[in-house]
Amino acid sequence: MFENLSDRLGGVFDRLTKQGALSEDDVTAAMREVRVALLEADVSLPVAREFVKKVTQKATGAAVTKSITPGQQVVKIVHDELIKVLQGEGEPDVLRIDNPPAPILMVGLQGSGKTTTTAKLAKRLKDREKKRVLMASLDTNRPAAMEQLAILGQQVGVDTLPIVKGETAVQIAKRAKQQATLGGYDVYMLDTAGRLHIDEVLMDEVQAVRDVANPRETLLVVDGLTGQDAVNVATEFDGKVGISGVVLTRMDGDGRGGAALSMRAVTGKPIRFVGLGEKMDAIETFDAQRIAGRILG
Ligand code: GDP
Repeated sequence: MFENLSDRLGGVFDRLTKQGALSEDDVTAAMREVRVALLEADVSLPVAREFVKKVTQKATGAAVTKSITPGQQVVKIVHDELIKVLQGEGEPDVLRIDNPPAPILMVGLQGSGKTTTTAKLAKRLKDREKKRVLMASLDTNRPAAMEQLAILGQQVGVDTLPIVKGETAVQIAKRAKQQATLGGYDVYMLDTAGRLHIDEVLMDEVQAVRDVANPRETLLVVDGLTGQDAVNVATEFDGKVGISGVVLTRMDGDGRGGAALSMRAVTGKPIRFVGLGEKMDAIETFDAQRIAGRILG
């Protein structure tokens, strides 16, 4: 997932830890390399800059440069700073699915993995949290997408709202709520339509659905391989519809990892889950500790 970044940082830190005594210049030179490594991983420039600034401030203190293992101390400072940038502060790390039936709105561009992620999350809620889940596809433009959700629902053993031709997205959302209430479901997930690009029609529709559903969570699904684009998409969606969290898909691919590193710092929104493959179990809760560990090898 972060192979290139890991390699680059590993090289920098190897040299630092082998060096013994460190001067401030040594730290500054190493941090310049860290900055380049972050930029190559498609981390946004302000985030990379701020990161390096914080680490340099902490690592050039007398306690570090004069310690017996200064290189290792610097690595620890980088590790702790990585966790901060990945996870931010004070966010609940579980989905709010109290007060049933709790609506979860799934939003994102077409092809991001939204429908797959909806089914993966539904399966997870059913299997791990013993929730009764109902899924509904709101993609009225693409009957195939509605079918796809129904098929995935069967595969994972989660109910889907029966498809009624000719309804609008808002009508489907209302029917899902009704069915979820009458059927005693804990959660209902609304898989909204995606487009290839953000456009006004899409945003208007998502806003209208949001207004009738009043979602407990609005999760944006973005392709983690798209780097800074993923962060830009998140900023746009958050500005237009408001999101409560992000799911980064395709983190099993050899992306450069920049999206994961910039997302929280740029958008202020937490990454809740990462998608790690096409299978229905290939999803994990986002764990900043684990990711920081992977980056630093
Ligand atoms: P949607 O248009 O946003 O609903 O996208 P889909 O859910 O139909 O997914 C598009 C493709 O991406 C499908 O072939 C999925 O199997 C695949 N996909 C989704 N999530 C992941 C992931 O985390 N890793 C990988 N490798 N493929 C994924």
